[in-house]
This record gives sequence, C-alpha cells and structure tokens, in this order.
Amino acid sequence: LTAEAPRGDKRAVLDPRAALRRVLKGIDDVAPLPPERVPFRAALGRALAEDLVAERPLPPFDNSQMDGYALRAADARRPGARLPVAFEVAAGMLRVPELPPGACARVFTGAPLPPGADAVEMQEEVEREGSGARFRRAVAPGRFVRRAGHDVPAGSAPLRRGTLVDPGAVGLAAALGRAELLVHRRPRVALLATGDELVPVDRTPSPGQIQDSNSHMLAAACSEAGAEPVLLPMAGDSRPALRRALAGATGCDVLVTTGGVSVGDRDLTRSMLESMGTRLAFWRVAIRPGKPLAFGRWGRRAVFGLPGNPASALVTFEIFVRPALRALAGLAGPSRPVLPARLGEAFEKDPRLTYYVRARARLAGGALWVEPLATQSSGALTSATGFDALAVLPAGTARLRRGARVEAVLLAPPRAG
Ligand code: AMP
Ligand code: MG
Repeated sequence: LTAEAPRGDKRAVLDPRAALRRVLKGIDDVAPLPPERVPFRAALGRALAEDLVAERPLPPFDNSQMDGYALRAADARRPGARLPVAFEVAAGMLRVPELPPGACARVFTGAPLPPGADAVEMQEEVEREGSGARFRRAVAPGRFVRRAGHDVPAGSAPLRRGTLVDPGAVGLAAALGRAELLVHRRPRVALLATGDELVPVDRTPSPGQIQDSNSHMLAAACSEAGAEPVLLPMAGDSRPALRRALAGATGCDVLVTTGGVSVGDRDLTRSMLESMGTRLAFWRVAIRPGKPLAFGRWGRRAVFGLPGNPASALVTFEIFVRPALRALAGLAGPSRPVLPARLGEAFEKDPRLTYYVRARARLAGGALWVEPLATQSSGALTSATGFDALAVLPAGTARLRRGARVEAVLLAPPRAG
C-alpha cells in the first residue's frame, strides 16, 4: 500500500489530495455546465454565466438621500440663510418643476432632485418659518444628493460571470430591470444503489435484507450542494441488473453509485462501469472511511463509485463529489471552509491512511476545536448524522494527542463553548 501513485496509474492507491486533483482535472472539459436563462429567483445559489451589464444607470436619476429641503448650495453659503419653500416633491413624482433661484423645495427620500438644485439639507437642520425655511448651517454642493449612475454607471458590469447569485444579487438584477438571469445549469446527478440485500424504503425487508438508505441520503446531499438528484431504480449484484440500471443514467451529468466497488466476488459495479465504457482515473484512495472509491468519465458524464457503507458514502461524497458538483455548477472557490483546528481527544490511526473523522466543531478560548463522534464505524447510520465538521488526520501519523493541530472541513458554523 503506497500513498504516492505513479502518474496515470489507475490501480495505485492515491492520497486524497491527488485524487481530488484528478477528479477536478477529469471534469475540466465539461465544467462548468452550459448556461440557461431562468427567472431570477430560480437563479439563487447558482453561478452567473455572463457579466450583468447595466443598460441604465443606478440610481436612474438624481434624487434626495434624506427627508429635507433641496436648494442651490450657493443660496446657503453661510449659516442662517432663509429661503422661501417653492413647492414639494414626493418620491415617485413624475414631472418636477425647475427650482427658482433663491428658493428651496420640500423633498422626501428617493424624490427626484428638482432641476436647478444641487444639494439637500436634512430636515433636522432646517427650521420652518411660515412659508419659508431657515438653514441652520452652511450647505455644501452635493450634500445628500444621490447622483444618477453614482451606484452603477450605465454600461458598467456590477456583477461578473462566475459570481454566486445571492439575495443581494437578485435585488441588483431587479433594480436593473432584469427578471431573468443567465446562470449555469444545475448538475443532474443519477444515484444508483447496488446490492442484492437492498429493498426500497416503502417495502418491508425480509430477514437478510435492508432498506436502501444511501440513495435518499445522497439525494439530500445533492440538493444541499445545489444539484438535482435523480434516483435510479436500485440494482442487484448481477451484470444484467447493473447494465439495465446504468442505462437510466444517460440523461445525467454525473452518475454516483454506491456499493460493489471493493474487491469482493460480488463487487461488480466497477467492472460493469468499465465494460460499459467508463474510463476510470482511479479506484482506490488512501482514506478512511472510504478506501474503495472509483472515479472516471463515461462519455461526458463524471462517474463516482462510492462505497456502500452509509457513513463512507456520505464522507466520500463530501470530499470528492461535492467539489465536482460545485465546479460543474460554475461555482468558484472551495466547496466548504477549511480551517485550522485543535483535536478534542487523542486518536489512534493507521498511519498509511488520511482519516476524515466525523466531529462536532466548537469555538472555545478563541480556538476552533473538533470533537470526534464516539462512533466512527462506517456502517453505523447514527454516525452519518450529528457531525458538523470533518477533522482531517493526515497520513504519516499513527497517534494524535488531544489538542493536536489539524485541518477541519466545516459543514456548518461551529457552536460556541
Ligand atoms: P458494499 O460496498 O457493496 O460491499 O457494501 C458495504 C455495506 O454497505 C454492506 O453492509 C451493505 O449492505 C451496505 N450498503 C450497501 N448499499 C447500501 C445502501 N444503498 N443503503 C444502505 N446500506 C447499504
Ligand atoms: Mg454490496
């Protein structure tokens, strides 16, 4: 067992960083997926596929930033100037008269600035005196005026392609009159559970059978990652069953199988994928959980063969599939925050493997601590939930003491205390 793999040798046991590099390189020519135009609220959480160019300026017209009085600043150069109030301008008023020299106008926030005016004084600094207004302090030109195009000049691109569409981006698009955005398509992920022992969730298992939990768990993980899961009918451990099931994946961008990728006699998934034309880049990674883990390309589709044990399937999805889905969706940057942390308890491990330890993250004394869950058994479904971090314990070490410095992949914000 070696962690260092000769380049291109798919039989080698890869270290996880090299494996992730091969995954991302393996989808380089199909990522990101093609763009589609969608109503902007459906664009939330997706990556812009074009620069958002402003056809008009924002704000579209000079307007008041305050409830107050618009004036020519030259008419209130010294404190105490008194100007007659010529008219009133509310927000939304369509035709605003020109401001006569030596007068002011009552204005409200967002109201168009009357032509001729070049400043607004807030009402707190103005005293009404009958039909006039007295300006307590000197007024400088431009005060409390939002100039047309000050926020977004016409022709500029306030949002660049690749940007994540967040609620503020939806607001900006709406302000520019764009109800649709060009974003990258969400990856469609076919999920295939394999194993003679599996029955669907709505069937009562006979002795020796179990309900398929992986498909539903990974469908949830896909949705959370911004992808669209497609559950294929599960397949037993036979070539015809696998062939039939795999045929259902043709309309998808990614195929994720679980089970049947280790070296047992019944572990047919890998060989079946290969005989149907999948070119595998690797099928073993020096990690726990999840050492049997295959990745390759089947035409334009990315294919992942994940282990059957639920916690292994979930952790390998997190470490390898999720980054691939993000890249396909055009979302730049890391899939999750990775932060330096301290290990909450001593840990013994196989020095040949990198461990992804399911842990709870908490902030204490200014440090991020990761407390391993009591069970790390990869078959236990209870250990597939209740963690908000993966502590990365690198290969090359056999024993880590409490407080050891490790990397933590954060799946949720840490708790305090
Ligand atoms: P395998 O990788 O096929 O050797 O499976 C490893 C373990 O995971 C076995 O105990 C399987 O019964 C279990 N397993 C495989 N597929 C699933 C699934 N879809 N849902 C729940 N458990 C599974
Ligand atoms: Mg199996």
